[in-house]
Amino acid sequence: MSDQGGPEGLQELFTALNLQEDAPDPCIMVIFGASGDLTKRLLIPSLFNLYCDNLLPDAFAILGMAMDDFSTESFRDRMSEDVRNYSRQDQFDDHAWSVFCDKIHYMQGRFDDAEAFARLKTFLQALDGRYDAGGNILFYMATPPAVFSMISTGLEAVGMNEEHDYWRRIIVEKPFGSDLDSARQLNRQILTYWKESQVYRIDHYLGKETVQNLLAFRFANGMFEPLWNRTHIDHIQITATEQVGVEWRGGYYDKSGVVRDMIQNHLFQMMAYLCMEPPVSFESEAIRNEKFKLLSAVRIMEPEEVRENAVRGQYGEGVKQDGSPAKPYRQEHLVHPDSNTETYAAVKLRIDNWRWHGVPVFLRSGKGLRTKSTEIVVQFRRAPEFTFRGTPAAGQLEANQLIFRIQPNEGIELRFLAKRPGPSMHMRKVNMNFEYDEAFVTHPGTGYETMLYDCMRGDASLFSRSDLVETSWQIVQPILDVWKSEKARDFPNYPFGSWGPKAAFDLPAAAHRRWL
Ligand code: NDP
Repeated sequence: MSDQGGPEGLQELFTALNLQEDAPDPCIMVIFGASGDLTKRLLIPSLFNLYCDNLLPDAFAILGMAMDDFSTESFRDRMSEDVRNYSRQDQFDDHAWSVFCDKIHYMQGRFDDAEAFARLKTFLQALDGRYDAGGNILFYMATPPAVFSMISTGLEAVGMNEEHDYWRRIIVEKPFGSDLDSARQLNRQILTYWKESQVYRIDHYLGKETVQNLLAFRFANGMFEPLWNRTHIDHIQITATEQVGVEWRGGYYDKSGVVRDMIQNHLFQMMAYLCMEPPVSFESEAIRNEKFKLLSAVRIMEPEEVRENAVRGQYGEGVKQDGSPAKPYRQEHLVHPDSNTETYAAVKLRIDNWRWHGVPVFLRSGKGLRTKSTEIVVQFRRAPEFTFRGTPAAGQLEANQLIFRIQPNEGIELRFLAKRPGPSMHMRKVNMNFEYDEAFVTHPGTGYETMLYDCMRGDASLFSRSDLVETSWQIVQPILDVWKSEKARDFPNYPFGSWGPKAAFDLPAAAHRRWL
């Protein structure tokens, strides 16, 4: 398929997605944790991509802050090295980088030091005068979650949360809490000093084109929405698998596991976009209201339902993609040798609303698996077979599937049956395929570009509101509780490089379905 819509079609799509290319307001972006991994691999490269696409305001500067003792010059040198390693641009634009790099500044400081926040305020006043940013400041918490609340309090102590004829916004990285209680507590702490409208809880998955395209696909096309309900859809599958293990993140991962790391945030967000009711507009509150309503309708499991509807796994030794041996999870760096943490989970959810009653939603995610893939499968109900009685096609009818591929190769595929050429009525599954990079000129992005751009424009549609975050923790809390109280007796239960634990395949099989 290709883009046949012409300029008008594209413009409509952009308008629908709130992607008109307006320049954001002038502002200064402060990155807390600027010496860390997220800053060098994703934030600075994404900001540079925005700059190259003319999507940053002219009046713009970055101020990095962390404990490390860099000068602005040495920090710029370090970013210059990193951006070359992590930029996804085909041809690195040295001239553009040298202009952009001049906008980057650094100050050393600890987040538990009140004096550091007073210095930060003075530094920002000077930068604001120099860049003419109008007092607008975007604070980005690229730090471990343990210091989120410390930073928000430190900023309040020097009055940097206050808005007048300028705005102050704060981006909070994931994970937002580690369970329902901690998420509620973090919300309480942050919202003591900041208004909800100032807080942007980020999940960069939502910056990916295909995730946003779920909204365009459902609500800009007339033909799918009438089918989007329990009358026509049999079940839904959402999968996010990785080939790699925990790599250098063992310390963090062992306290987290895949339910906290992937399912509670990324997979639930995709489910919300896929299943929510049409919003009355593309205003951020309208979209967030519908997402919240959808998650609120997910049935909270009792402990015995967790045992029936949630499967966990942990990888053992196996073989990596390149043929080299992979060590078991329990021998990974900084992982407890007797760890009970799941590196794989599959869950069957029910949505108790009029549209989805009786349509199971299967979610799965894991590390150390055979393929790297993120996709959504919408499986329709099978057509009645009676017409084909007495033909070779009898018993061959399979259900139609609509597949949204998030990564790799972003796109959409429709699978349906066609008659095989020849005298008799034999069927074969065929597909219609839409590939993003074939149909549009796309820029390889990280997902952060869209999120940062939207935040600078004050569009919170793609960011999570406090009620949404708490509701998603509410859904996974019974799973976390049961798994914490009952140690897994079969870990490790799948070899690295395999398709996952056998029990994960039994889960849809018990409901007479199977993973695609
Ligand atoms: P890192 O550990 O690499 O970096 C953390 C940064 O915070 C460092 O600059 C560190 O400074 C600084 N820091 C921590 N405590 C203090 C303190 N008390 N005072 C001053 N500075 C402090 O973490 P990441 O960059 O990997 O992750 C940051 C956040 O982003 C986390 O919440 C993570 O979950 C999230 N995230 C990360 C992703 C990634 O790919 N890395 C992807 C998605 C989300 P110093 O080095 O001096 O200790």
